[in-house]
Amino acid sequence: MAEKRTEITDLGEFGLIERVKSSFSLQNSTSLVGIGDDAALIACGEEYLLVTTDMLLESVHFDLSYMPLQHLGYKAVVANVSDIAAMNGKPGQITVALAFSNRFSLEAIDSVYDGIRSACENYKVDLVGGDTSASASGLVISITALGRVSKGKETLRSTAKMNDIICVTGDLGAAYLGLQVLEREKQVFLTNPEMQPDLEKYEYLVGRQLRPEARMDIVHELADKEVVPTAMIDISDGLASELLHLSKSSGVGIKIFEDKVPIDAGAFETAIEFKIDPITCALNGGEDYELLFTIAPSDYEKLKNHPDIHFIGHVHNNPQQNVMLTKQETIVPLKAQGWNHFS
Ligand code: ADP
Ligand code: MG
Repeated sequence: MAEKRTEITDLGEFGLIERVKSSFSLQNSTSLVGIGDDAALIACGEEYLLVTTDMLLESVHFDLSYMPLQHLGYKAVVANVSDIAAMNGKPGQITVALAFSNRFSLEAIDSVYDGIRSACENYKVDLVGGDTSASASGLVISITALGRVSKGKETLRSTAKMNDIICVTGDLGAAYLGLQVLEREKQVFLTNPEMQPDLEKYEYLVGRQLRPEARMDIVHELADKEVVPTAMIDISDGLASELLHLSKSSGVGIKIFEDKVPIDAGAFETAIEFKIDPITCALNGGEDYELLFTIAPSDYEKLKNHPDIHFIGHVHNNPQQNVMLTKQETIVPLKAQGWNHFS
């Protein structure tokens, strides 16, 4: 009889992670939160230690024909710092694992580290180690970040409460549209190498794709205003996917309003140009690295005039009802398309 073979696509990325999570139990009392949040939470003296890993692979997460190596190094750090920010923590150290073939020169590797250094300076993080290996195909960069958060100030995915207000920072969907622009210009270039890419009009979108920032500024401002979100997650896979993570982890329902979801004017126009509904980009585009968090209604006054925090909906008590009220006043279910690398 043939051995049973299950395709990973049957589970998907999140199903696989769930499976791993349920097949391991935590043995140490210091392991407070393991798999399932933006970073692990570990008891460590007066504070909590945060640990997170993020990996970027050539041809899966980036294309070197338009991703400068320096930006790649920067972005790989940002993806990790963003997960520390999502726990309301401050990053302290990173380790960098790099694998590459002889297609890469010393100068190329230097460029990756120039970007890493630049991010280390901006986010005040120290590079303290890593690993180096040959790679049979393509460039792989995997970073682990360590951070810290004061006890009681940590923001998990699992603690959103009924009636909380749902907040997002910045604007959404631009990084995805930046990628669409870069892909289109690449195709134009492949067909006609004489053509120069026309990116000026799309500078903001392309910048959001190639050189994102982690919202540590928001973490500091929340602390200044003495607001501790009831729950928080960073938006790396798309707003809808992250909202559903909050719903599932917290056992609550989500209602958002389409007209409250922040979309940059240029992103809106570019979505139309690509014949994509702008809200689809905001809900399902990835890599915005903005923060999605919930606050108690009593904290609304403290944040209501913040120019970069948007109030997009609220939390209710039915975890089966995760919905958006559209501009046409119809209720649609939130669906996670996100980035499923196995589909
Ligand atoms: P994020 O988008 O915040 O980086 P992910 O969706 O990558 O989070 O991961 C969700 C959770 O699953 C995290 O807690 C992460 O540490 C954990 N995780 C992801 N992949 C694995 C794996 N292969 N083994 C164990 N834990 C994993
Ligand atoms: Mg995250």
